Order: sequence, then C-alpha cells, then structure tokens
Amino acid sequence: TSSRKQADRWVNSTCGYCSVGCGMQLGVKDGHVVSVRGNRAHPVNAGKLCPKGLAEHYTIEAEGRARFPLLRKNGQLERVNWDDAIGTMVEQFRAVQCKYGPESLGIISTGQLVTEEFYALGKLVQLGFGTRNYDGNTTLCMSTAVAGYKRSFGSDGPPGAYEDLEHADVILLIGANVAENHPILCTRLEANQSKTLIVVDPRVTKTAMMADIYLPVKPRSDLALINGLLRIVIDEDLYDKSFVASHTSGLEDLRESLTPYTLDYAAQITGLEPELIRKTALLYANAKAAFIGWTMGVNHSTKGTETVNAINNLALITGNIGRKGASPFSITGQCNAMGTRETGFTSGIPGYRKFESEMDRREIARLWNISAERIPTQRGLAYPDIIEGAVAGKIRALWILGTNPLVSFPNIDVLKHALGNLDFLVVQDGFHPTPTTELADLVLPAAIWGEKEGTYTNSERRVSKVNAAVAPPAEARSDFDIFLAVAEHLGCREELFPDWREPRDAFDEWRRVSAGRLCDYSGMTYELLDQSCGVQWPYPIGEKSRATASRRLYSNGQFETDDGRARLLSTRWEPFPEQPNSEFPLILNTGRTVEHWHTRTKTGAISILQRMSPRAWLEMNPKDAQQLNLQAHDRVEVISARGRVSKIELRITEIVAPGQVFLPFHFAETNANQITQSAFDPISREPNYKQCAVRVERSSGN
Ligand code: SF4
Repeated sequence: TSSRKQADRWVNSTCGYCSVGCGMQLGVKDGHVVSVRGNRAHPVNAGKLCPKGLAEHYTIEAEGRARFPLLRKNGQLERVNWDDAIGTMVEQFRAVQCKYGPESLGIISTGQLVTEEFYALGKLVQLGFGTRNYDGNTTLCMSTAVAGYKRSFGSDGPPGAYEDLEHADVILLIGANVAENHPILCTRLEANQSKTLIVVDPRVTKTAMMADIYLPVKPRSDLALINGLLRIVIDEDLYDKSFVASHTSGLEDLRESLTPYTLDYAAQITGLEPELIRKTALLYANAKAAFIGWTMGVNHSTKGTETVNAINNLALITGNIGRKGASPFSITGQCNAMGTRETGFTSGIPGYRKFESEMDRREIARLWNISAERIPTQRGLAYPDIIEGAVAGKIRALWILGTNPLVSFPNIDVLKHALGNLDFLVVQDGFHPTPTTELADLVLPAAIWGEKEGTYTNSERRVSKVNAAVAPPAEARSDFDIFLAVAEHLGCREELFPDWREPRDAFDEWRRVSAGRLCDYSGMTYELLDQSCGVQWPYPIGEKSRATASRRLYSNGQFETDDGRARLLSTRWEPFPEQPNSEFPLILNTGRTVEHWHTRTKTGAISILQRMSPRAWLEMNPKDAQQLNLQAHDRVEVISARGRVSKIELRITEIVAPGQVFLPFHFAETNANQITQSAFDPISREPNYKQCAVRVERSSGN
C-alpha cells in the first residue's frame, strides 16, 4: 500500500493473465508502474484481484525482459537493429518458402496478444506470407471447446455470462478448479447462497472443497458420467420436450447411443455410487436454471470434443441455454484466448466464418478488397501437426510468438527434435532468455501487458480495453508495430493494413468485418469500452441496451447451424490411451497453482509469487506412499515411458486418490512435459495432458 500511495496517475486496463478479465488500474509514478489495484467500476470483478493480478505490475520491470533484437551469428545471439532483424526474418522465410513451398513456413502464436494484433497477424500470415499453417497455443487449452461448440451450435462462443453463476440454482463444474485457476469467479459462486454446487473432479481441489456435492470420478470417466446423466434424464422423462422439439435435432440417435449407459455401467466406469449419479441427474434436470462450467479437466483429453458435445447435449435437452443462470460454459484460459478465436485465421476465417463456405470466403474477400481465391478453402495444420510437420521435414521455418513450448508442449523430446530440424526459428517474446528463445536464430523483443493498447475478450465474451501505462523497455516494440514492419518488408503493408498507424485502426476495420456476425463488434468504440469498462458481444450498431448489461447467445432458440437447430450428438466413452500397468502403475494428473501463470516466464520473475510457490511438488495418497515406503518431503523421481522428472518434493495427501499422483506443470526445472504423452483429440488436436502412466521412486542421495 505504501507504493500505491505514491502513484500520481492511474491508467485503466485489464488483467493480462487469465480469461476472467478483471478490470484493474495501473499506478504510475515517474515513468514507472508502481502498483495495481482492482477497478471497482468494472463489471467483472468490482475491484477484486487475485494474487497474480495484485502483483502484475512487477512483470514490467522484471529481470529477463527482452530488450534488443538478437540474431544468431557463429552460434551466438548478437544484438542487431530492427531493420536488419526483420529484413533477415523476411529473407530467410522467403528463401525457405521458395525452396520448399509456401506451406513450409509455420506460425505458432498465443492467447495473450491484443485482439487487434491477432487480427493483423491473421492477415499477415495468410495473405502476406501465404501459408495456412498458423495456429495459437490456444489449441493446447481451448480448441476442444471451440470444436465442441461448433459441432453442437454451429459456431464457437461461450453462450452465457458470469452473472449466470449468481442466478443458477444448480451449478455443475466438471474438471474446472476455478478456485485456483479463475479465482475471482469464486466470488460469484459465494454470492449465490441458494445454489447447489456440484463438482466433478478426480482430485479434491480447492473448488471441490467448496462443493455441496462432490463427485470423485475416476480419471477420464467424465464422458461416461454425462452420458449416464443424459440417459436418466431421457428415461425418466425429465427433458424439456418443447425446447428439444423446437430447437434441436438428433434426439432419436442420441437416445439410441445412450443404450449402454445404464446407471450400473456409469457407476462402474466412474467409480461413483449409483445413487449419487441419479441424485445429480435429478438435481440438474429439475433446476429452474442450471449452469455447467468446464475447463482443462475436460479439454485436455483425447475424448475432449465428444465430452464437450455431451455437456452441450445435457444443457440442450433440459433447455438450459440462452436463459439467465442457464448455460453450457467453457471457462477459457488465457486473457485473450477468445480474441484469437474471433479474429484469427486459426480454425476459421475472422468473424467465425467458415473456410468451407463459399459465401463466407466471398464476403471476407469483398471486405478486404481482394480476390476470393486468396482465401483458403480449408484450415492449415493445427499446432501439434505443425510440430509433427517439422519432425517430418515439411515445416522448415517457424515463427513462435508469446509462448514457450519448450516447457508447455507435451512429450517435450518430440518438440526438441522438431526445432532441431528447422532452417530458421524466430521467437518473439517479452522475455529472454526462456528455454524457447535460447534456441532461436532470431529473437524479437516484444512489449507486454502495461506497455501497449488494444482489447481482450474474456470468457463471457466481454471486450475490455487494455491500455499502455509506460513505454516498452529499450528497443522492445509492440507486436502490432512488429507486424506492420514485417508487412513493410514483405511489400504488402498498404494492401493489408492501409493507413494503419495504431491498434485503433485495426479495431475499426475489425468492427466492420465483424458486423452482422455472431461476434458483432460494430457498435463498440474505444471510447465506449473505456467508459463502460467492457461490453459483451454481440454489440451491433444501434444496440440500445446498457453497454455493461449481460448478453447471452441463442436466447431466441436460433442456432448458427444451417437449419437453425442445435445438434444433439452421439458420443462414446473410451478408456484413456495409456493405462497403468505393472511397470508404470500410477496415473499422473497435471495442473496449475494460483500463484503461477503457464511456464512462469512472468510469474517466476516476481519474487513475492516465487516465495509463495517456489518449486513443484508431487501429490501422492498416503496408501501409495506407505506401499512405496516414502515419507513426506522426500525427493522423488516421476518416470514414464518417455522420460523422468527428477528430485520433486513429495506431498502425502488425500487430495489425490490411491493410484493417482498430481504434478503442477509450470516449472521448467521439473518439467511435467518430459513425461506426458503425444496423444491428441482427433477432432480438436488438443493434447491429452491429464493422464498418463508413471511410477515413482525415491531419488538417489535423498
Ligand atoms: Fe487476473 Fe484472472 Fe486473477 Fe482476475 S482472476 S486478477 S484476470 S489472474
């Protein structure tokens, strides 16, 4: 608080960590950001911030900021000027594309740029470099929800609003530890005193501890549970016949597909008491308004998309969508994961247009004044397939922005092999060195949160303004400026970014491009966003309701499918790919802790957060510890068929069930992704980070 008093001006902005999207104010004194405080006027958090948010100002002057462009010469990264850096990048990428074809260039970005930057990057990659092989690290966390929404509703986009958490009488959270990962949402849960909170998770998380009913499912049995719930709702005639008849298709096929999911079968697969399953089904189906939220526990799975579709089925069949308190709600991960989903060229054409739709391709071409033949008819490679392409020698150059895959990609040896095969690797990041920048041929220093302007969209589709409080350090530049400079060197700046000088220019074009689409921004302006502290889309021109009011998708029962009906889709539970065996008898679960963000590039440089959570740990049930003759605080090795994580401190706790262990993934020194597996959801391509078979041994010299 003493430093807070010293600030002599406050700049409104939005938190740059998680997708809750809390409004905050940055206190500035003498050109330095000296503190942050929650923005009491912001509709998301009303002034509250979690530990990461409260310490966010320290990221700006943290040790390890990237300050100058660096080019590898004779094996060493050496300082160069921007013109040489971008000139070399364009020359190298062009040389690779000339030799191996345009699609030998891949781009992997993040969920942490501002929307204006995602919009610019999508155009630059697709129309400037002419490659479709562009994806975000959002595929490592959100692509399952995207695919599930598209299959069920015809479009991506979480349909509900945070306010629903306060109005629902039943809240079902599946694989969502919001207390740790989206902490400010917990204040909404607490505000709703009349709800029944049901939490489904194999681990007794802090969120599970808040539950009225806790369902300790066996790992990866969630799909069997939901299908079991669906069967009860249909068999016992508890579904909303009028809603189903008017607004959905596929009931009979769904009913047929549920035949195996008897109560006994669901109980056997999930390990739950049959009565608990039935009680959950009845509570959910009889609720006036029921909310289902999920995050990585569902998404990080080879059956993730089908699980999302089953969740959507449950919401649809009970009419729990498009109403106050009622939504199937994917809680997103990064601060602007939604921005890349709306505007990027990753799994669709900007504005949730479809590659396969000629009408959509023609429309975007008209808006951009280019020939429709330049718009791809199908998406390029997803993130894991770009990496596999590099392993196979098909991707020869890579541009990585704002992400640190050397810690975050599963089964890290595959990635190391892929990066070793490249002719040229560019890494653009706010920090250097990171495990990924250390391998780069060229490092481009980027501005971070607090140093640039634009917008983020949070999990409830609320677009909030992000503002610069200070300039980036030394020669670092905003990603937006870097994209304009790359376009200049490519000779396409005037075509792609006509008269663009600042993010506002990109925002204005995006407003026109999104007009009439589900994610309609056309009624928003920077001034409105600054005044209102955030507006949910759709917000078309002429929108009359209060800017900050909650908006829900599909309130009129019309979906984005060809016939306007939501699809009830059949799904099938299967065991996860790597089952425990005599050599690797335990199931590893990976996850997060409230103090850290992703690979700790930022939070690892903040001493207060480091002191609160200095290192990784392994959770093990007392029964397993006893069997292995291990004691609390022993240092252990966690070993899978792919590698080992060494010298982890053991926590013996009933938070994990017998046969399961838990390891947070944030820490490069004890990287969980040395042992996770290369298994992906076949539809979304999201990795199965959550379960693999391991054994645990005491470290030597313990
Ligand atoms: Fe930032 Fe998320 Fe914490 Fe809010 S809950 S302060 S958005 S990290």
